[in-house]
Amino acid sequence: MADRHLITSSGNELDYDYLVIATGSVADPSLTPGLAEASVNFHTSPWDASKVWQALSTFERGKVVLVIAGVPHKCPPAPTEAMFLLDEYFRKRGTRDRVELTFLTPYPHAYPAKTIADIVQPMLEERGVNIIPFFSIDQVDAAGKKVVSLEGEEVPYDLLIAVPPHRGARVAVVSEIGDKDGWIPADKHYMTVNGYDDVYAIGDATNIPISKSGVVAHLQAGIVAHNIASSITGADGKQKYNGRINCPLEVGGGKALFVSGTYTRPPKHMQPTRMRYLMKKSFASLYWLMLKGSLEPIFNIYFREKEENGS
Ligand SMILES: Cc1cc2nc3c(=O)[nH]c(=O)nc-3n(C[C@H](O)[C@H](O)[C@H](O)COP(=O)(O)OP(=O)(O)OC[C@H]3O[C@@H](n4cnc5c(N)ncnc54)[C@H](O)[C@@H]3O)c2cc1C
Repeated sequence: MADRHLITSSGNELDYDYLVIATGSVADPSLTPGLAEASVNFHTSPWDASKVWQALSTFERGKVVLVIAGVPHKCPPAPTEAMFLLDEYFRKRGTRDRVELTFLTPYPHAYPAKTIADIVQPMLEERGVNIIPFFSIDQVDAAGKKVVSLEGEEVPYDLLIAVPPHRGARVAVVSEIGDKDGWIPADKHYMTVNGYDDVYAIGDATNIPISKSGVVAHLQAGIVAHNIASSITGADGKQKYNGRINCPLEVGGGKALFVSGTYTRPPKHMQPTRMRYLMKKSFASLYWLMLKGSLEPIFNIYFREKEENGS
């Protein structure tokens, strides 16, 4: 980076004035002994996610365990949402009374943010989901069908669903831009890579203490684009990212809430509603319209992503 030069995997060499690194994160079950062979997951690929579906559709009775095997991971709401959807799925199939659902989480509650946990944890408990907090996985005993914690606690399973440990992209490790886990150290407001004012890292790739979510990648990208453009044109008004997140969390029964906050304002207390569920469902298609520019004003209000310098 000192020479403003990069080499592609096919050997092409490129010079740059500004570099934006958006190489994402990798969910890697092999980082926990026994996990890859023993579990299914919905984080590594759509094909692997379909294996979760296949496993569930033939599951008639027994223990389904979902374990968060490492943090940070993509989409903090995903495992909690999965517990709600598992409960709903087995109820609809009429087999809920034959299926025990257990959620193993390293956090103190069923959701990392207390304001959200205060809402979702009683709902999960009321639906008969066992929640085991402070569970730090050590390994999976695939032969014995047990998840083992660092403290030696053993939790038996018939079907194991995992949120695998994540790491940064390989290029971040081998180029030594990233730390030992591949996360790229960057400024949390301007996304400049530490030690460089012409290199930026956005989205899942960074070590910025914010959820690994598409919303974050999107908002950071807009701010970095603006700041590079103003640096080229000499215009004033650098923007900074305020840590805005806004991630949907479905709770079954056609309802959802949004986990919404900033660096200085923790996620606010929000009840699940039908309207929020419909917002979640419509978001996927609206997002692409927004990228074409047609809905941008609405999204700017919704995300309030931009803070002028010093404001
Ligand atoms: C089950 C699930 C549900 C989710 N739900 C939501 C949600 O509701 N809302 C939300 O906001 N987010 C959600 N997310 C998270 C979201 O998908 C990610 O946080 C987001 O995709 C991160 O964007 P990114 O651009 O940083 O990285 P990515 O989307 O991972 O893109 C990085 C790209 O860089 C490429 N790359 C890596 N190394 C190199 C290299 N050396 N050269 C060239 N290319 C390279 C990768 O192949 C990849 O295509 C969810 C994730 C999962 C798994």
